[in-house]
Amino acid sequence: MPDRIAMKNPIVEMDGDEMTRVLWSMIKKELLEPFVDLRTEYYDLGLPSRDETGDSVTTEAGEAIKRLRVGVKCATITPTAKQMGEFGLRQMWRSANATIRAILDGTVFRAPILIDCIKPAVRNWKKPIVIARHAYGDIYKAVEYAVPGPGRAELVFTDGGGKELFREEVQGFKGPGVLMAMHNTEKSIRSFAHSCFRYALDCKQCLWFGAKDTILKTYDQAFRAIFDEVYKDDYADGFRAAGIEYFYTLIDDAASRAVRSEGGFIWACKNYDGDVMSDLVSTAFGSLAMMTSVLVSPDGCFEYEAAHGTVSRHYKRYLNGEEATTNPIATIFAWTGALRKRGELDGNARLSGFADALDGACIKTMESGVMTRDLTALCEGIEPKPVNTMEFMDAIKMNLPLQL
Ligand code: NAP
Ligand code: MG
Repeated sequence: MPDRIAMKNPIVEMDGDEMTRVLWSMIKKELLEPFVDLRTEYYDLGLPSRDETGDSVTTEAGEAIKRLRVGVKCATITPTAKQMGEFGLRQMWRSANATIRAILDGTVFRAPILIDCIKPAVRNWKKPIVIARHAYGDIYKAVEYAVPGPGRAELVFTDGGGKELFREEVQGFKGPGVLMAMHNTEKSIRSFAHSCFRYALDCKQCLWFGAKDTILKTYDQAFRAIFDEVYKDDYADGFRAAGIEYFYTLIDDAASRAVRSEGGFIWACKNYDGDVMSDLVSTAFGSLAMMTSVLVSPDGCFEYEAAHGTVSRHYKRYLNGEEATTNPIATIFAWTGALRKRGELDGNARLSGFADALDGACIKTMESGVMTRDLTALCEGIEPKPVNTMEFMDAIKMNLPLQL
């Protein structure tokens, strides 16, 4: 195939597990390789390979993203104690995503893919709302204690030299209760801020940030102040030039404004807020199978993936000989996200153009009613035509423009 689109630099390709591993090779064979002379550095993050390499393959993949700046990842199993036995694993390997996130020190952005015939549960939402979740600290790294009875709880800080700098009563308990201490670091909050501002500039959308600085006058005030400072020092000019805004408000006000909005902005959330809001927003927009996810590091590395997991239930049916009906859209968009970014970074307009064309063909296919079973139940205004995964990809291929 002489006319395939050339790539100047490779991307990091991370293969995965179960049903999404099946989709991965189908997507490459049907929708990518016929059109693009793919250049990837391949890392097999499937559970057997992580086990065989003592998980060094995951660390190597993370390092490769730092070097090549763009990666695309298939969903992977985070093994449970039960799966440890099933797969005969040497260790209960930690989440591959957590390992890569620790290497890249990034923020995760989740964005829904919208089509005309699937209406968001919130009627006035016309454009995607992207949730940017801070992925370090707060309640996810808290120390907890079940207070057994009367007594005194204090918060104490001792500096590196052993000198006590702070001591304050948290509560004088008269009976049993519960107690928690949580933390965050300036470094992590600063990285979070940079990732959010950079991503907003990258997709030319306004950035909202909500916290509770009226109540947490030190803790949440630190988040607010760091965001303000990073914005003023590094991004205000860029935002002005791009015609976008940075907007801080209290988290509860942000939540009510988000519901009244028409969408079309990025919502930076503290860790717990992001956990809750990303599930709320993704469900209200339709389906997990239509949610994309990208990890952006503060120094500008990008790792694209689908927000969903390995779809184990479908894989079990597939192994039993049933046809695949899994929706490949979020995984296709992970690939197009990575190829588009590679094209942008390399000045390769033909490659970015291909990514746009493939996204367009996916949307066109679904808007004609041709869709997998997960979407047919949500479809409004047109007669859906349910297809299996292979038929769906064939239809997408037919909808690609002749000239790429
Ligand atoms: P899941 O794979 O996201 O699937 C949950 C359910 O959502 C499926 O059973 C299916 O519902 C529906 N679904 C998700 N993606 C779909 C798609 N593309 N097309 C159609 N339906 C889709 O979550 P899980 O079953 O809880 O987790 C399975 C494995 O994935 C676990 O080992 C977990 O550790 C891993 N995981 C990995 C990542 C990652 O690598 N980023 C993220 C999350 C989970 P129906 O069965 O009703 O059709
Ligand atoms: Mg959650």
